[in-house]
Amino acid sequence: MTLSDRIGQIEAAIQGACERSGRTREEIQIVAVTKYVSAEAAAEVIQHGFIHLGENRWQVAEEKWEAISGHSSSQPDGQADFHAQPSSNTPVWHFIGSLQTNKVKEVIGKFTYIHSLDRISLAQAIHKRAEQLNLIVPCFIQVNVSGEDSKHGLSPEELPAFLQELAPYKGVRPIGLMTMAPLDSEPEQARPVFRRLRQLRDELNERRIVEHRLTELSMGMSGDYVVAVEEGATWLRLGTALVGK
Ligand SMILES: *Cc1c(COP(=O)(O)O)cnc(C)c1O
Repeated sequence: MTLSDRIGQIEAAIQGACERSGRTREEIQIVAVTKYVSAEAAAEVIQHGFIHLGENRWQVAEEKWEAISGHSSSQPDGQADFHAQPSSNTPVWHFIGSLQTNKVKEVIGKFTYIHSLDRISLAQAIHKRAEQLNLIVPCFIQVNVSGEDSKHGLSPEELPAFLQELAPYKGVRPIGLMTMAPLDSEPEQARPVFRRLRQLRDELNERRIVEHRLTELSMGMSGDYVVAVEEGATWLRLGTALVGK
C-alpha cells in the first residue's frame, strides 16, 4: 500500500466514525508518528499535508528534526491558535513519549506540543526553559486510566491537585488530557478507557480546576483510532497505519 492508499483508508474510517457519533472531521487532528521511519519518509508525509509530526524519544528524533526543521530559523509559536491550519507546510512537532527532565533543554523550542506531562518536576523544567525562550508550551496531561503498572501517567484521582499545582508554572499551558489504551488489546477494550478520559476532562472543566477550558483529548493510535474518534478524540497519534513501519 502506498501512502496515498493508507491516507484514503484512514480518512474513510474517520469519516465513518464522525457520522456515527455526530462529529465533524474538522474537530479531529492527526499527529503523524514518524518514530519508525526515516527523515525522507517523514518529508513525504508532510508533502501530503500532515504537518503535525510525533516522536517519542529525542535520541531517535534528533537527526530527523535537524534534517527537516534544523535549517529554518523561525521557531514554532507556542502561543499560536493550535487549531488554525498553517498556510505553509512547516511541520509542527509533538513530543508524545515519556520526557526525561534532562532532555527538556533540547526538546522545548523544537517541539511545540508535549503530550506526556506527568510530574511537577517536568513542568518546572519545561517552565524554566519556556521562560528562557519566551514561549508558552501547550501540554497534555498524561493519564493512566487503565491503571496498568507499566504505564506512565497520573491516576485519575491525582489530576485535580496536579492541575492546581501547575498553575504557577506559566510557561506550561495544560490544554487537555492524553492516554494510551491497554497494550495489545482489541479496539473495543479501549472504548471504556477513552470514554473515561473524556469524562475526566469534562469533570475538570465543570469543577473549574483550571481557569481556562481544557479542550483537547489526545487518544487513539493505529489499532484503536476509530473508537477514539467515536469517544471524542481531538488528536489521533497515528504511526503504523498512516506512516508505515
Ligand atoms: C508509537 C506511538 C504511537 C503510534 O503508534 P501506532 O500504533 O504505530 O500508531 C502513538 N502514541 C505514542 C505515545 C507512541 O509511542
